[in-house]
Amino acid sequence: MKCIYCGCLDDKVIDSRVSDDGTSIRRRRECLGCGKRYTTYETVETTPIMVVKKSGCRQQFSTAKVKQGIVKACEKRPVSMSDIDKLVNDIEMKIHNNFDGEVTTSQIGEYVMEGLKELDDVAYVRFAAIYRQFKDINSWLSEIQEVLKTKK
Ligand SMILES: [Zn+2]
Repeated sequence: MKCIYCGCLDDKVIDSRVSDDGTSIRRRRECLGCGKRYTTYETVETTPIMVVKKSGCRQQFSTAKVKQGIVKACEKRPVSMSDIDKLVNDIEMKIHNNFDGEVTTSQIGEYVMEGLKELDDVAYVRFAAIYRQFKDINSWLSEIQEVLKTKK
């Protein structure tokens, strides 16, 4: 850290403690140039992800909501909760890596479908049916056939 008194770049940490709520670390530093002491705070950088809905309004991204949708699609299917949790984590990571603070609901939907395709055909088709709101039964059927084809 650059000393606020003399601008020297060398310092030593003489004390560090975690704040009561555990969200930051307070460090007491001593400048090796002038010997004065100052305090720095270290916090985790959290950039909330905003989800842009079809209507254009924004809402904070929630893993709970994504999970809810997946759990529903996997109802009575041989998919374990740990598989679902893993999928939710993967999706969250993908969003953090590929988007800069904002993602559309349709992109999240695509990630969910990608993941479900790997986990369970039926869950995938269920989710896709709701999510894509197929206009007619034919486009839904062709989607199902597509899944069956790739699984062979
Ligand atoms: Zn200094």
